Amino acid sequence: MNVKEIVSSKLTMLNEENIIKYDVPLKDYCSFKIGGPAEVFCVPKTQAQLIELMAFCLRENISYFILGKGSNLLISDQGLTGMVISTSALNKITKDENYISAFSGVLLKDLCEFAQEHGLSGLEFAHGIPGSVGGAVYMNAGAYGGEIKDVLYCSKCLSPQLSLLESTNPIIHLKAADHCFAYRSSALQVQGLIHLSSVFKLKQQNPAEILAKMDDFKLQRWDKQPMDLPSAGSVFKRPEGYFTGKLIDDCGLRGYRIGDAAVSNKHCGFIVNLGNATAKDVLQLIRYVQQTVYSRFQVKLETEIRVLGVESK
Ligand SMILES: Cc1cc2nc3c(=O)[nH]c(=O)nc-3n(C[C@H](O)[C@H](O)[C@H](O)COP(=O)(O)OP(=O)(O)OC[C@H]3O[C@@H](n4cnc5c(N)ncnc54)[C@H](O)[C@@H]3O)c2cc1C
Repeated sequence: MNVKEIVSSKLTMLNEENIIKYDVPLKDYCSFKIGGPAEVFCVPKTQAQLIELMAFCLRENISYFILGKGSNLLISDQGLTGMVISTSALNKITKDENYISAFSGVLLKDLCEFAQEHGLSGLEFAHGIPGSVGGAVYMNAGAYGGEIKDVLYCSKCLSPQLSLLESTNPIIHLKAADHCFAYRSSALQVQGLIHLSSVFKLKQQNPAEILAKMDDFKLQRWDKQPMDLPSAGSVFKRPEGYFTGKLIDDCGLRGYRIGDAAVSNKHCGFIVNLGNATAKDVLQLIRYVQQTVYSRFQVKLETEIRVLGVESK
């Protein structure tokens, strides 16, 4: 039996609840608008269903990928085999005094607006980052001098171990320090943990002042970044002591194009999809930029975006 047959024959309850779909085009689920189909695509409605799906994959030896809002991904034109599990329906937010708790699928935008409406400050930096809470904690997302690590109080996660997932208490509790946050990195990446929810510790402030700060960051973002074209944000991590966009610009690569993938004219650290870019185009462009910057400045550019699936040469 292939993966689709195994899933459709063994996960009958979840199939009946319409949580599972097959051959779903992933370009519709990521900000780059690039990517072939997911062999199996699941949208669990509860954390219990997420646990059930993960345990199933481990038991059946099926590979799985946890998809947030898809804003930091380059997905292969061939798509992904195995199961893609989207957190989009896990989107509960609650507040207790100065603490806000959010499930993994909550959009950062919604989290920030909820905090602002309740007069809680600290998350303004994240308002324009087009990801989910799970993706932001996983990546330690940051902007304008703020990072997730500055406001995160604790999280609940899952470990990809069948014995734990099948136990009566599969949830792992992480205090702030347990996340081992560093620049665009966290313990979740290193240990392969799946994020369920986080609590953020914020400070009381006048909602109008919070809104003004969010609006200011939004203006800066629209002024400097190609927000009108599909992309996955900054392609490369910032090498210490340099600005990535300037390095690329100084190599004369502003606007440089392979197929429909181009170095953004507005911000050279972004690669944009001008219409029908393929993952292959983007990968070739990434390699070209890396080689050119290295041969000119001897600086290695490491990708920040996650490249998924195997690409044909
Ligand atoms: C226009 C634009 C601007 C951007 N600006 C910024 C910026 O200013 N700062 C910044 O840091 N980033 C920025 N980004 C990148 C991106 O938005 C962030 O990295 C974001 O945190 C990714 O969240 P996501 O939900 O989209 O994750 P996805 O892209 O869906 O996934 C990213 C990684 O996180 C993992 N993941 C997602 N959810 C979970 C979970 N629940 N448990 C475990 N792993 C999970 C995925 O498996 C994947 O490996 C930008 C992107 C765009 C398109």
